[in-house]
Amino acid sequence: MEKQPFDIGIALARIEQAVKPWPKAALFQLAEEGFSSTFEQLLACIISIRTYDEVTLPVSRALFARARLPAEVRQLSWEALDALIGPSTFHERKAHQILAIARQVDEQFGDRLPGDRNVLLSFAGVGPKCANLVLGVACGTPVISVDIHVHRVTGRWGYVKESTPEKTLLALEQKLPERYWIDINRLLVPFGKHVCTGNRPKCSTCPVLEMCEQVGWESIGEGCALAIGKAGCANKKGATELHNPLIICAANFGRPPPSRTGHQRIMSYLATLFWQINLLKSEL
Ligand code: SF4
Repeated sequence: MEKQPFDIGIALARIEQAVKPWPKAALFQLAEEGFSSTFEQLLACIISIRTYDEVTLPVSRALFARARLPAEVRQLSWEALDALIGPSTFHERKAHQILAIARQVDEQFGDRLPGDRNVLLSFAGVGPKCANLVLGVACGTPVISVDIHVHRVTGRWGYVKESTPEKTLLALEQKLPERYWIDINRLLVPFGKHVCTGNRPKCSTCPVLEMCEQVGWESIGEGCALAIGKAGCANKKGATELHNPLIICAANFGRPPPSRTGHQRIMSYLATLFWQINLLKSEL
């Protein structure tokens, strides 16, 4: 297929339509339900770390049904808070962090946590990705939040070509028009979950296929992608044509590929290790 020049406005407008059937990203959904204060969004963001949206949403709703303001949250015992957020990952540590934040906000700012990036970053457990997401959703501040979906999809488009979410953020700040800074996360999280997925992107039905460079997937079809996902490097020719070996190694993770030399096997496992580390870093 002859590719068209990539037009970010057209791409995001098409993706806006494509993601309508699917649930919104957790923080955007909570904001729509009225949990849109900076404090509420910050707590939801902490709960969401390394936790699926399907868990983050009911856990956040349960917490806010019990306590929404800093003064209310700080009144909770650690045991009660830990029980409320129990289904989320690392809930014991998160309960300590949330109680410390609630105390600090109540003492310094009362009911209203300001949308100040430096203040958000001063809290234990809050990193740039979380701070940016909260600022964008709660305050409408034009900031980009790059999670693993935004990093993967913009890389496959060929719109930016960076090795980590942190570098992708810097590249997008240079290239992406500011009017899309908040929406890129809102749109690419459901798009990355349902269309441009980790190891089986649905390119044949993708609304931006004609513009997308399909970096890492251009030389193999969905059939081969499926085979890779199921059985490792089933198509060795396709595998060697991949531009991004990390993606194929991601597909292969935990599945020793057949007929490889020792060198190929070592390189594959090293690349897999890097990919896993990058994934963990991006989610922390
Ligand atoms: S064409 Fe394929 S690689 Fe490109 S955005 Fe769509 S699903 Fe992702």
